[in-house]
Amino acid sequence: MVEIIYTRKQLQKRLDYWQRRLRLLDWHLTIAKERRKKMPNEAQAYCQTNRASKISHIGILHESDYGTNTPTPQDMDWSIVHELLHVHISGIKAEEFEWSLQEEQAIDAMAYAYITLDREANA
Ligand SMILES: [Zn+2]
Repeated sequence: MVEIIYTRKQLQKRLDYWQRRLRLLDWHLTIAKERRKKMPNEAQAYCQTNRASKISHIGILHESDYGTNTPTPQDMDWSIVHELLHVHISGIKAEEFEWSLQEEQAIDAMAYAYITLDREANA
């Protein structure tokens, strides 16, 4: 994996791109870089989703707080796709706020496929 760090403007552009690609155009999505103290647990990103209003905010860990002891370099594109997939499946979960390892693994697998295909197509 390569390090992908975006400026705020680039982050918004990539959110727009993936919002179209993942067919979430009827959602109002916002994105911001946020410091470690605002991140839940040790997350690199999070989303706060209100499904009824179709609103979601995605927080991406600011690069200055990304630890050097992390096994993979920070990839903000990956984080956007991962969080948008959470938005997608938020409607099919039985327990909206329950964290599930199986869900994280499924989302990681799908995010990996999307990112890999996108990078191959744009190489
Ligand atoms: Zn996740």
